[in-house]
Amino acid sequence: GAGASGQSLRWDSSSLAGSGARLLSYGRRPNGQQRISSSRLTVNAVGDIISRFERKGFALKGLKLFQTPQDLAEEHYSELKERPFFPALVKYIVSGPVVWEGPGVVASARKLIGATNPLNAEPGTIRGDFAIVSGRNVVHGSDSPANGEREIALWFKEGELVDWEPTVLPWVLE
Ligand code: ADP
Repeated sequence: GAGASGQSLRWDSSSLAGSGARLLSYGRRPNGQQRISSSRLTVNAVGDIISRFERKGFALKGLKLFQTPQDLAEEHYSELKERPFFPALVKYIVSGPVVWEGPGVVASARKLIGATNPLNAEPGTIRGDFAIVSGRNVVHGSDSPANGEREIALWFKEGELVDWEPTVLPWVLE
């Protein structure tokens, strides 16, 4: 019911309040929540893409629009630096990061986003609906909770994520 168990899944705002260092730490999120970074929202559909995560029930915790420095883009994708498309990929990461928080957000976001190659992405996914080539596949999604935290720490400074609790949360989480 909406009693004790409902309460236990609500944000523990005391553990987040004023603790930027904690927000950027790699530790487990309170109550099993995860966070991801989703950057590269450079398409004429930014509102539509953000809306898909919102209507799913994830909480928007951070969003910045700025010209991404090359060294930040290179660090973000450092695991791919030997790949032939790396220089083009770095140039493509030009817009800024978005942070989403919620239970299971890593795996769920990858389903919302769709396959890396947009030609293989199901219709209804972001890449399935908005893209046709891998080198312009519209959005990024962190591939693990640890990578989500690593990326958030790269893109956001202390105090830049918003500590808030969606009022609909009791209707989204049991
Ligand atoms: P994903 O973003 O689906 O997690 P990867 O982490 O493997 O995929 O790759 C990161 C990004 O590099 C992709 O989103 C895509 O923009 C780009 N990329 C991956 N493979 C290719 C490719 N074969 N050609 C061009 N760009 C690619």
